[in-house]
Amino acid sequence: MSIQNNLQAVLKQIDGRAKLVAVSKTKPNEDLMQAYEAGQRVLGENKVQELVGKYESLPKDIEWHMIGHLQSNKVKYIAPFVSLIHGVDTEKLLKTINKEGKKNNRKIACLLQVHIAQEQTKFGFSEEELLNLLTPLLLSELKYVELKGVMGMATFTNDTDQIRQEFKSLKNVFDKLKTQVFVNDSCFSEISMGMSGDYQLAIEEGSTMVRVGSSIFGVRNYH
Ligand SMILES: *Cc1c(COP(=O)(O)O)cnc(C)c1O
Repeated sequence: MSIQNNLQAVLKQIDGRAKLVAVSKTKPNEDLMQAYEAGQRVLGENKVQELVGKYESLPKDIEWHMIGHLQSNKVKYIAPFVSLIHGVDTEKLLKTINKEGKKNNRKIACLLQVHIAQEQTKFGFSEEELLNLLTPLLLSELKYVELKGVMGMATFTNDTDQIRQEFKSLKNVFDKLKTQVFVNDSCFSEISMGMSGDYQLAIEEGSTMVRVGSSIFGVRNYH
């Protein structure tokens, strides 16, 4: 199967119900260009250096999403161009993104990462932490951040019931933030959940944005 065929198959499965972030991490520019030529404009990367390198050498109408764990000291490298940062998981990172947004005179779109998996290794806030963090004062300070929703990663397991429960819990956190914090904010509308193995399940549970890598670009050489 070619990348183009894979992409079409994934888009057919999604059937317009969610946005597709094609996760191109570890793949060479030629592969990204195949997806580009097939019409895909939203690409996701999880390493800052790789993201910057690909941004510099590929067409400028690509929307680059940072989907991986982001350290505060690296925000400056992507702040001028990144379209969406999925994994905002600390207050410090939020404030750094705001500062770098100001320097670049642009609002940087972000998703708040929520810890939904049972695994300790995954990052993210709890619901309680978010409700405590997102005070009117903090939100008024974040003039160069656009909070567009939440992101989560399910446990790496074959247990679909567990994955479904974790997706439900992310949808619940989104709904709670929507009704308690972002009441009149139409920008707060995205739930980024679902990867190659579970994006169909994620869409059933309310995902608006899926991050699909290996089903489009093939298996990666390293994790
Ligand atoms: C790698 C990655 C994906 C894509 O994973 P696949 O299983 O290859 O679809 C999605 N989200 C994040 C955060 C990732 O790091």
